[in-house]
Amino acid sequence: MRRVVIQDDLREAQIRPDSGFNTYIELLERDLEVFLADTVLVELDVCPACGSPDAFPDFEKMRISYVRCGQCRTCYASPRPEMEALDQFYAESDAIQYWNSSVAERTASARKQYIFSPRATWVLETAGVHQQEDGLLVDFYTKYPVYLEELKTKGSFSRILIRKPAVSIDELVAVEGFEVANKIEEGTVSVVAAFEVIERLFDPLAFMQHIHRLLRPGGLVFLTTLSISGFDLSILRENARNLLPPTHLTLLSYEGIHRLIERGGFSLVEFSTPGQLDVALVLDALQRDPEIALPPVIDSALRRRGENVHEDLQDFLQKANLSSHVWIAAQKLAS
Ligand SMILES: [Zn+2]
Repeated sequence: MRRVVIQDDLREAQIRPDSGFNTYIELLERDLEVFLADTVLVELDVCPACGSPDAFPDFEKMRISYVRCGQCRTCYASPRPEMEALDQFYAESDAIQYWNSSVAERTASARKQYIFSPRATWVLETAGVHQQEDGLLVDFYTKYPVYLEELKTKGSFSRILIRKPAVSIDELVAVEGFEVANKIEEGTVSVVAAFEVIERLFDPLAFMQHIHRLLRPGGLVFLTTLSISGFDLSILRENARNLLPPTHLTLLSYEGIHRLIERGGFSLVEFSTPGQLDVALVLDALQRDPEIALPPVIDSALRRRGENVHEDLQDFLQKANLSSHVWIAAQKLAS
């Protein structure tokens, strides 16, 4: 493939032989077995995206059952661990620590160029368009400290607060003057950013409502997530090696994203899928398991045409918002 280093993060690591992805999976399987042995799982009565009670069994991954919403087709784990247990898992899991330290460090310079800078630019430009570029920015579950440094250098936010950091940010706080906030006053925030967060929460709607309360009128929320409507996930489903519980409990569909934004009290201002790896991930899956069934036209494009067709297909997926890696910006509506 023409593009080598990308914005998809975990998805990118999967197709790089030296990335540590296999070690991550092994550690995660071990952590999850211990975690599930003494964690209470709670059945969801309704779809976490659209609120419909209609759901059908879909698949099982690492002993977690996923169902599919009969209305919006969001794919979600049910039963699932509650938030407190999840927070503890995310804080203590060897797999997640391994990921955040060794893998992130190994790819630091590429990640800065291809993951952090585009996110900082996206937030700053969109906030500027909606006159939210000053005031307070809150970053939830921070795992990209470098992106915050860029926001601070290039932006004009008066303060940047970090809520529930997912990685160690001691240096960031000591050197750069960022603050970790345990409580944030409602109605005071211009911008909330939550990258790869919504899919790992017990209750995504409660999170959106919480953000809605924190934002000032017209404030913006920036989210990135994986969508089950995207090309590789909709084809591979449980065979997607990067679809992993409990960090992926809710895989929103295209419709589910719209419903969740609306139910949270927001209007969607931007929806894009800049993911660049869908085709590469399906090709990788086919190499591992040639028996995977594909729709005839996709089968032909992937197995019987050359790299140019693969690249054109990925370009099309991006343009048509059909990649699995989704970026969302939404604005708080008056309640
Ligand atoms: Zn639904």
